[in-house]
Amino acid sequence: MKPLALALLLAAAPLAARPLDTSASAEPSWARAVAEVNDRARTVGRIPRARNVILFVGDGMGVSTVTAARIFAAQQANAAGSPPPGFEGGEENRLSFERMPHTALVKTYNVNAQVPDSAGTVSAMTMGAKTRIGVLNLNPGQSAKTCATPQAFPKSLGELARARGMALGVVTTTRITHATPAGLYAHSPNRNWEGADRAYPAVDRQSGCADIASQLARFEGLDVILGGGADRFRPAPQGNRDDGRDLIAEWQARSGGRFVADTAALRALDPGAAAPVLGLFAADHLAYNADADRTREPALAELATFAVRKLQAKRGRGYVLLVEGGRIDHAHHVTNAWRALDETVELAKAVEAVLALVDPRDTLVMVTADHSHVFTIAGYPPRGNDIMGFVRPIEGGEGRTGLDPQGNVIDRQGRPIPTLGYANGPAATRIGDTLLSGNKAPTDRDFLQPKHFELEIETHGGEDVALYATGPGSALVSGSLEQNSIFHIIARALGWR
Ligand SMILES: [Zn+2]
Repeated sequence: MKPLALALLLAAAPLAARPLDTSASAEPSWARAVAEVNDRARTVGRIPRARNVILFVGDGMGVSTVTAARIFAAQQANAAGSPPPGFEGGEENRLSFERMPHTALVKTYNVNAQVPDSAGTVSAMTMGAKTRIGVLNLNPGQSAKTCATPQAFPKSLGELARARGMALGVVTTTRITHATPAGLYAHSPNRNWEGADRAYPAVDRQSGCADIASQLARFEGLDVILGGGADRFRPAPQGNRDDGRDLIAEWQARSGGRFVADTAALRALDPGAAAPVLGLFAADHLAYNADADRTREPALAELATFAVRKLQAKRGRGYVLLVEGGRIDHAHHVTNAWRALDETVELAKAVEAVLALVDPRDTLVMVTADHSHVFTIAGYPPRGNDIMGFVRPIEGGEGRTGLDPQGNVIDRQGRPIPTLGYANGPAATRIGDTLLSGNKAPTDRDFLQPKHFELEIETHGGEDVALYATGPGSALVSGSLEQNSIFHIIARALGWR
């Protein structure tokens, strides 16, 4: 063997076993997750190598949301005249990702919060260690001061994948700078520092921390970026940046990529073309599926399948793609269960469409939620009862005090009880000009469910969420896992450790 070849071989050999080069590896939660995944690995035996990883995050998609959404999906299809095969009320239905062979329960707490937020939770999945609530990809002991020494930041999943020559994509129905998508590419001591506007006050900007939109614009190696939030990229008055910067122009100049802003422009693109794609289809979040104009904003399934085709065309060293169904969370925050479930069904459709495109032998696909909501399915409604409706009586159902003239179960105040409710939340809100309230019929898409405590917005829930997985490495998904173990399962599957 020639000395040069030998030297290359020796240099390359220890690469796979090398510990990951990130400051998060010093965190106690990192070591816990490594131990947890190592435990699984011992049981599983040989772990097939994944070439690609796709992580779907249903923001706020707790277990009760999945249960209600599977019933909702089947009942909506039935009402539209196309019930799923074997329809017998909806409870027996399965969403696309519920057919995946491996599942686990995931503990979502942040290092300082029993009930977490989306920034702390996505960071667990993207930096491999847990951090504080509201913080994006900073170690728990770091602060805005660390922005002066960015090399001290933990590496994000996007940075680690890019360093290994992988292609990268991020897709969401929220602003692309919102916490969950930002987990792939950004570091920020405050998830609200998305742009250069009032949400990132001048006094805080003295920290020198780059706003999240500007981090995205200069992040090299993102091949496909699809979502909302164009206002954070454009100077006022077209957008809301007060620093005069046009980040879309900056991104185009740096990357040579294509920018698109509506469905027709996306469809006109060849996903096989080399240039990266930035698609921002709304000034703010994309519309809820129920309210969307599909000529302007593509559905999540269309965005996700475009991203997969784009990344598959790269033919390099595989890809990492993060896809967020981000508005499940927003609908829950206003206690509008109809839209929360409809958005969950949209995520399930996106998963189904993506699974049809990828090779299950080389692509690890995982579906999870970052956290839950205080959302309940309650009463003793009979099988097939409209999941959006009032509880109807059933022989053997306990706890009711009587029936109203329409035959609905009533509480002690004589009020009928919707099956779906929340522990807390607001009394009324608007989507555009539409008033959402509890005065509508419960089956109306604009109905707000009842809640126990009245707050400005409904809060997240603190119980475990589910993780569903298929493809190489998915056998590591079992039992009860720390949320940051998701990162370590990805790292194992990709052969990084
Ligand atoms: Zn939320």
